[in-house]
Amino acid sequence: MTHLIQDLMGSVGELVETSSVRAFINGQWVNAANSFEVDDPSSGATIASVANCGLNEADAAVDAASGAGRAWAPLSPLQRADLLHRTYALMMRDEDRLADLIALENGKSRSDAAAEVRYAAQFFRWNAEEAVRIEGHYAIAPNGLSRTVVSRTPVGVAALVTPWNFPAAMPARKVAPALAAGCTVVLKPAAETPLTAIAMVELLVEAGVPAGVVNVVTTVDAADVVDRWLSDSRVRKLSFTGSTPVGRSLLRTAAGRVLNCSMELGGAAPFVVLPDADLGHAVRDAVIAKFRGGGQACTAANSFHVHASVAEEFVDRLASEVGRLTVGPSRSGAAVGPLISARAVTRLTKTVDDAVTHGAQIVARGDLPGDCSGYFFPPTVLTDVAPSSSLATEELFGPVAPVLIWDDTDELVARLNRSEYGLAAYVQSRDIAAGMKFADRIDAGMVAVNRGVLSDPAAPFGGMKQSGLGREGAQHGLHEFTEIKYLSVDWSQD
Ligand code: NAD
Repeated sequence: MTHLIQDLMGSVGELVETSSVRAFINGQWVNAANSFEVDDPSSGATIASVANCGLNEADAAVDAASGAGRAWAPLSPLQRADLLHRTYALMMRDEDRLADLIALENGKSRSDAAAEVRYAAQFFRWNAEEAVRIEGHYAIAPNGLSRTVVSRTPVGVAALVTPWNFPAAMPARKVAPALAAGCTVVLKPAAETPLTAIAMVELLVEAGVPAGVVNVVTTVDAADVVDRWLSDSRVRKLSFTGSTPVGRSLLRTAAGRVLNCSMELGGAAPFVVLPDADLGHAVRDAVIAKFRGGGQACTAANSFHVHASVAEEFVDRLASEVGRLTVGPSRSGAAVGPLISARAVTRLTKTVDDAVTHGAQIVARGDLPGDCSGYFFPPTVLTDVAPSSSLATEELFGPVAPVLIWDDTDELVARLNRSEYGLAAYVQSRDIAAGMKFADRIDAGMVAVNRGVLSDPAAPFGGMKQSGLGREGAQHGLHEFTEIKYLSVDWSQD
């Protein structure tokens, strides 16, 4: 590999060296006219200078992807599967170094980063297995006059746009199914965390990906590059993961060409504790659901809704667990890392302060690390939170756990379903039937019953309402990169 990871990891600890990172277009590492800097959120120090691509590079990437598609799409499914299998093996070989890189540029804890690498790698494995099972359909038409042959063909050049909170998993969740389906891609990773995507492409190159099949365009001028792609008639697909406001705006632009779009957008998952829940289990899952990645996951439990009969005990136990969470840079082994930016700290501080002004009570607050030059926010638990407050309704994206109390199931369901989001939800109950019945009533694409995590490459990930369109993972994720083609065949002639 071209040693991006080694270069960067040589400097972990001191963070004094600045590495120079290029974009990847048509099988070449390319520089741009200028560059942007990537920070370590644990310290604020610059860790890399990255090519800031513009319209020329955006066009060159589509030229390359479009050209390469002519040879990639007709390859046998087995050949595409082999490449994905090799990429999976290389990611697992480099698990430690990739995890170090994620922890460095994103700030999440080292164990969360390693879990992300394994999760990301599984998308290559799953899609390698699925690439040879893209099924069609054959039937005799009901009137007997023709045969119906239905198959899935690659949609074509796919523009992939990914966020900073899962620097490996979000690109992997798109690149792997796109390649399995026979598409070529132009990827724009988040400017906060482009290094992991570049490192993964190094592994794809080592695995033998042909030039032009995968292109990575790094930039801080996201709107310019992505708008250019959306207006290019050779781009046939947008797969976006990010915030709902940006997703809405991209959908408006994509409508101009009636572009095929898959959108994985924001979430504000409620975590519901039914009266019969096992509280020890519920609190353990609550800590995972809230504090994994410092709360910066689209599926993170946003707010906790606890039945009045168990609320006091749940809050006591949660407060005690949260008080024990260590906060600090991932290299210190802390459980909770920093937020992604100083701006994120300011935003979350304001949301918590507003809630406290309106009567919310802080019942637990973790300690910040002694040297606080990074973007840290203390894990916090609040009660007496107004159901209509920003703290209870907006995507918090940080280690803050508001707890609300309920005693009427119908009212709770109606309140939760008023959210514009519908990505994920959590429910805890000793009675599985009660938990599943409750889950059925919640408008969310994914519900975890007695679990604190739910992502799985073999399951359909995605949201209802303004949390998105389409699904990633399972065979659904691969199908998003295909078009259905139907042949109507008359073979009655001699
Ligand atoms: P974001 O919407 O700000 O950015 C996402 C991506 O879009 C980045 O690559 C960014 O550079 C790019 N972008 C930003 N503005 C753009 C524009 N005007 N035109 C084109 N591209 C633009 O989101 P973020 O802050 O990077 O990520 C956090 C958000 O992502 C949260 O809302 C979170 O819930 C969501 N998310 C959703 C999922 C999911 O699967 N549903 C997964 C992870 C994150």
